[in-house]
Amino acid sequence: MPELAPFSASGQFWRGNLHTHSTMSDGRLTPQQVIEAYKARGYDFVQLSEHFLKFFNWPITDTRKFRSDDFTTIIGAELHALATSVGEYWHILATGLPLDFAPCGDDETPAAIARRAADAGAFITLAHPAWSQLTIDDGMSIDAAHSLEIYNTGCSVENDRGDGSYLLDQMLNKARRLTCIATDDAHFHTGDFDAFGGWINVKAEKLEPDALVAAMIRGNYYSTQGPQIHSVSIDDNIVSVSSSPVNSISLIGGTSRTSTRLGKSICSARLDLAELEHSFAPAPPSPWLRLVIIDEHGKRAWTNPIWLDEL
Ligand SMILES: [Zn+2]
Ligand SMILES: [Zn+2]
Repeated sequence: MPELAPFSASGQFWRGNLHTHSTMSDGRLTPQQVIEAYKARGYDFVQLSEHFLKFFNWPITDTRKFRSDDFTTIIGAELHALATSVGEYWHILATGLPLDFAPCGDDETPAAIARRAADAGAFITLAHPAWSQLTIDDGMSIDAAHSLEIYNTGCSVENDRGDGSYLLDQMLNKARRLTCIATDDAHFHTGDFDAFGGWINVKAEKLEPDALVAAMIRGNYYSTQGPQIHSVSIDDNIVSVSSSPVNSISLIGGTSRTSTRLGKSICSARLDLAELEHSFAPAPPSPWLRLVIIDEHGKRAWTNPIWLDEL
């Protein structure tokens, strides 16, 4: 039974958070304090993603001195440009930027700055779509985006707008092949309420920034708040999943239909794709699927979208 990426990829999973702020922009902790906090919680890598604005003197924090054999950092930033459909700054995460990435031009559009960052080698993510009230048209306008935040811890604790799945699924239904990430967007202003709540597990041969960013661009990772996905395989119409203990294992697509197994601390499921199309209210087939698991505390993990024509 063919196992799907990233589970089939060689290497091992590395745990990292791509979205966190320090005193270089509007965070409370120094870069070193932020790095030490994540290392103490068992993370393998972190990216400091300062607000890349003139207001903060265009910060791209150089975290290279914090790298060691068992921990690394990725250089990046949160890019901004006007304006979303509600008239505010875009927030676009760029992962894997050069330290000398040039400041934004006065007339540089959101799509143009995202493209410039992607051309510089970065993995591009639309940050906190619900917090920003991004519309489907907003999302579709950034053609350089590789992914969007399906979960943002800071936005979740601030105002319950941490979930980006609405925009992901609508863009997938428009055939935009985005992946998705979970992040913290931690600022540490009130303890660590906005930290350690969502991260990605990236499958790569080595714990090196370039290898991690390349794996992200290929989609070789999954996102989680805690539950672990061990394997996803597909054979004919059956998707087989193994995971840490959860109460829900669910396969969703581009309609209301799902294939879901519920149970107390289940660690595996066999999900039938036919359930997504046949019931008392039949639905058209979806060209994409994604898996969500939920544990007894409501903590979730998400695979990237699976496109059936790529299998
Ligand atoms: Zn932001
Ligand atoms: Zn942020």
